[in-house]
Amino acid sequence: MQEMLKITGIRKSFSTLDVLKGVDLTVHKGEVVSLIGPSGSGKTTLLRCANFLDQAEDGTMVLDGQTYHLGHVRRTEMYEARRHTAFVFQNYNLFLNKTALQNVTEGLIVARKMPRDEAEARAQKALEKVGLGNRGASYPNQLSGGQQQRVAIARSLVNQPRVLLLDEPLGALDLKLRKEMQLELKRLQREMNITFVYVTHDQEEALTMSDTVVVMNKGNIQQIGSPQDIYNEPRNAFVAKFIGDSNIVDGIMEKDFLVSFGGQEFACVDRGFKPREPVQVVIRPEDVDIVPPSAGKLTGLVREVIFKGVHFE
Ligand code: ADP
Ligand code: MG
Repeated sequence: MQEMLKITGIRKSFSTLDVLKGVDLTVHKGEVVSLIGPSGSGKTTLLRCANFLDQAEDGTMVLDGQTYHLGHVRRTEMYEARRHTAFVFQNYNLFLNKTALQNVTEGLIVARKMPRDEAEARAQKALEKVGLGNRGASYPNQLSGGQQQRVAIARSLVNQPRVLLLDEPLGALDLKLRKEMQLELKRLQREMNITFVYVTHDQEEALTMSDTVVVMNKGNIQQIGSPQDIYNEPRNAFVAKFIGDSNIVDGIMEKDFLVSFGGQEFACVDRGFKPREPVQVVIRPEDVDIVPPSAGKLTGLVREVIFKGVHFE
């Protein structure tokens, strides 16, 4: 697969705070890569540096074959890079005194010097793509949050970017709408074959949306992998705890595919440890079967049962 965006050794600090500590990231053409991590882990900063909204101290970015030195980039290079990328903000960043259509045409007319009627025809098409073909004359305050974000997405698509950088684009929407918009964004992404770098702090969203998930913590990448890899084979306790619910207990790796804890042996999916190597065992809740005491390996006490609709917790 062709590499669309490759960032190497990116560093960024704000005064004494090292926010990105030499991060490497490769994104292939047509891929959805999501960055997930706790608040403050550097996700937004990484995205902003890739679009030169913040300036990194060090690092290289190769965007569709073109190399940029992030620490010292010329203005002309910056504009060149920005022609191929677009940024979608969590808070939409629409011009409140302009209609939906004007918001979408603005960049085409001002930055791209496109004739007005051509820009409007393009903008109208983009609005239709996001299901707002008949709302071009509406002002942002006449639109719902979801509709405003659709306008912002139309505005970002109208330039036909190669890479869309999305910073928690659905973060302000309620759960139901967010799930609808996730599917819609995925449809747009496939239809237009745009590469997405998608920041979210919602693990379910990351697993749903992405081909590749990048887990960040404190300015470092903890793990990169497919959603299945990240969930089933977390590399460390941080990833295990951050993605999905897990119980982590100390155990001993007896041999390949056999681990013991609580005085019992259990089959597992791991191999390659030294005989009787101490390990941390991650047990996903759905892997626990509750059975009569006579049939069980471990005993426990159910202290609380919570009804969650699809299952009990
Ligand atoms: P995330 O998007 O993962 O929540 P950010 O990239 O926004 O994290 O922030 C990472 C860290 O950098 C945080 O501690 C934040 O307070 C700090 N930070 C971000 N932007 C600035 C700024 N403009 N000035 C000072 N500190 C900042
Ligand atoms: Mg952020």
